[in-house]
Amino acid sequence: MNFDRPHRRLNLLTGDWVLVSPHRARRPWLGQVEKMPVDRLPVYDPTCYLCPGNRRSNGTVNPPYTQTFVFDNDFASLLPQEGEEETAQSGLFTSEPESGLCRVVCFSPDHSLTLPELAQEQVETVIRTWTEQTMELGGTPGIQYVQVFENKGAMMGCSNPHPHSQIWATGHIPNEPAKELVCQEEYLRSHGTCLLCDYVKAEREKGERIVAQNERFTALVPFWAVWPFEVMLVANRHTGSLADLTPGEVSGLADIMQEVTVRYDNLFEISFPYSMGFHQKPFDGKANAAQHLHAHYYPPLLRSAAVRKFMVGFEMLSMPQRDITAELAAARLREMAWVHYKAR
Ligand SMILES: [Zn+2]
Ligand SMILES: [Zn+2]
Ligand SMILES: [Zn+2]
Repeated sequence: MNFDRPHRRLNLLTGDWVLVSPHRARRPWLGQVEKMPVDRLPVYDPTCYLCPGNRRSNGTVNPPYTQTFVFDNDFASLLPQEGEEETAQSGLFTSEPESGLCRVVCFSPDHSLTLPELAQEQVETVIRTWTEQTMELGGTPGIQYVQVFENKGAMMGCSNPHPHSQIWATGHIPNEPAKELVCQEEYLRSHGTCLLCDYVKAEREKGERIVAQNERFTALVPFWAVWPFEVMLVANRHTGSLADLTPGEVSGLADIMQEVTVRYDNLFEISFPYSMGFHQKPFDGKANAAQHLHAHYYPPLLRSAAVRKFMVGFEMLSMPQRDITAELAAARLREMAWVHYKAR
């Protein structure tokens, strides 16, 4: 297989293909660092609805929190079930009621910080908060899935720079984790082993797509990556959810999340935008032994702070396509310093 020629790669987690056109990226690295004034935000912003002590639009005043802070989203996309459940519709107009809960998790009272700038203990506290919330929401009657995710940067539609993430708990397993669960179960049935256990072991042996690794977690650009600097974090041990992590694994996860996000920020010397989220076991009453805990980072930027990848044309109508290979993207991220550019 000649990876210098156009080829397609299979995403083993979803069954989708991605078209890779490496000959188009054979020109020298065109990524540019546009020297911009380092944006220093205030530690406290009186107009921010996430800062401690501030009033939110529904009149609630945030407590003077000192670590993480969790509250129900004031403009939730999902609502808890109320009274009789509506009836589902089948046939040409298939639909069913969906209930759930949306929460916001602030990482820190400090308005000016982002995850890569937090101390490792603070990131560990964030992970423990996500874990507690996953257990609490997953234990709520009618909830089958808990999606922990972070939307970072205005480019990703995140209007407030205050460091925070969201958790949406739903009555059904959403599309992406449902597809991945099917693929992981199918692999376990046909191979007798776990897909991501085998995959992470093979990637650690090869090394060419590894971005960062420690004893507990591996960060890599997946072989089938679609976004230019897409990264996947995979637990080295077979574990299905955040709640199963040992204290050592929580530290390992915090460490690798910081390393990846520091390298991201250093790529174009900006606060690197992305959507990231965890995929873990659903709460559907099944064992889901095939599910292997991991997180996806989907960053939109391609060549500079301003040049983003769009999924249009052929990609919208046929299939995703990329020029820079997963191997080149991983090498580029590995070249980045482990020290945040703001701290230099
Ligand atoms: Zn704030
Ligand atoms: Zn596994
Ligand atoms: Zn996944």
